[in-house]
Amino acid sequence: MNKPSDLKLATVPAWINGKAVVPQGRMGDVYNPATGQVARRVPYCDAAAIDGAVKAAAAALPAWRDASILRRARVMQKYLQLLQAQQKDIARLITEEHGKTLPDAMGSVQRGIEVVEFVCGIPQLLKGEYSENVGTSVDTHTVRQPVGVCAGITPFNFPAMVPMWMFPVAIACGNTFILKPSEKVPSAAIRMAELFKEAGLPDGVFNVVHGDKAAVDAILAHPGIAAVSFVGSTPIAKYIYETCARNGKRVQALGGAKNHAVVLPDADLEFAADALIGAGYGSAGERCMAISAVVAVGAAADPLVKLLAKKAQAIKIGPGDAEGVEMGPLITAQHRDKVAGFIEKGKAEGARTVLDGGKPPAKEGFFLGTTLFDHVKPEMEVYKHEIFGPVLVVLRVDTLEQAIALVNRNPYANGTAIFTESGGAARRFENEVQVGMVGINVPIPVPVAFYSFGGWKNSLFGDLHVHGLEGVKFYTRTKVVTTRWPHQDTPAPGLHMPTLG
Ligand code: NAD
Repeated sequence: MNKPSDLKLATVPAWINGKAVVPQGRMGDVYNPATGQVARRVPYCDAAAIDGAVKAAAAALPAWRDASILRRARVMQKYLQLLQAQQKDIARLITEEHGKTLPDAMGSVQRGIEVVEFVCGIPQLLKGEYSENVGTSVDTHTVRQPVGVCAGITPFNFPAMVPMWMFPVAIACGNTFILKPSEKVPSAAIRMAELFKEAGLPDGVFNVVHGDKAAVDAILAHPGIAAVSFVGSTPIAKYIYETCARNGKRVQALGGAKNHAVVLPDADLEFAADALIGAGYGSAGERCMAISAVVAVGAAADPLVKLLAKKAQAIKIGPGDAEGVEMGPLITAQHRDKVAGFIEKGKAEGARTVLDGGKPPAKEGFFLGTTLFDHVKPEMEVYKHEIFGPVLVVLRVDTLEQAIALVNRNPYANGTAIFTESGGAARRFENEVQVGMVGINVPIPVPVAFYSFGGWKNSLFGDLHVHGLEGVKFYTRTKVVTTRWPHQDTPAPGLHMPTLG
């Protein structure tokens, strides 16, 4: 049950100019989804608080962008050590506020820390190009310069990993940064800010503000912010992209997903079912790379559905910090009810209910059971929408060609996977599928930190993906410099277009 806010609850502060601060104004509740109770309170920043963060970030920019690359790399190295030492602490905060299991939270923090590990190599990543004699005695070189004050707006489902896709790369490149984490899970961001200061990061380089639409809108409207990275649902991603474009900001906005796994009859079905159970129900389905639609090809369907039903039923559900629990609660009561509503829709529109998890298995907290629908058709609501809960739908097709066409008709295109023993089929799938991240016998193909993460179509608005080389490109601007040192016989430049050849 949701309890009304208690003023004695701890407050999660904002972090501005190297200090914890609690701006005046609206406050929000932060829940522990496993108990359904309010755990903490969080201040919702208004335009004045956002302006304070931008001023701090702008003041810190000149010294930080001109700090030697080696110094910036060394701060990252120290930060890496501190994050590794505090990984469990951060994971515990995530389990408490998000609900996912502790091992799952540990894994997600690890994937974020790997981005910090990647940017320890920033001196190599920022190297420019140089060409001698592009004309006689004329040389050209490029430099990558930071873009300025950057902001990141992140979703509830990865309170540490998704912010770490952004701010370590931006800051290593010489920018300063303002993070607006999800107001549902604000604590991990503050812990990460404290550790960054301990690592030697100068005050003002990394700031954390909290809040909802009002805080986001103040970020989007602020003329002092040069670039915005966003990760969240598709309608908000589109809004962020359009507003930033209108306001002249560089923007990358990653949106929602409906990820398909295609299972061919020649696949190792036991292996595929295990992979799909983890990818479908892990983190209660609240992952942008969750597999939520299984496309069973031909004879794979009957035995696969049988295996999925047996394994999904056996998943141990409970509080994320309890021993042996494999799936925790959903993020809020509202979200649990929305997912339960989709389960009812699926039944009403004629999908075959193999497992019905719509009745919460626990008394307290925002829990749901595991749901499996078979014989789902593309026009059904349970297929068309991102449900973001522990609901797996199975669609049946006859051929690989039909499977690829089905995936390609979907407006989302974040991740996808194929399960097969056939190299030829996998090659064709990889080549023809219109999706940003592809797994071959890998159910959640989240790229490692030194590659870039991003979907296509309605799963990404913008051009550059996050982290890896595309992340470095997003947070830098290229400058091309052409140089000549004239001497006596250098001809004087004329009025015509110079051709250096
Ligand atoms: P959300 O879109 O509701 O919120 C994301 C951020 O936007 C939050 O910081 C929130 O405060 C802010 N926000 C919410 N409503 C807003 C509004 N009307 N105007 C301006 N800002 C607003 O997403 P969520 O529920 O926190 O996260 C789940 C969604 O995120 C899912 O759709 C999931 O697929 C997506 N996601 C995508 C990726 C990816 O890499 N593509 C990764 C993780 C999550």
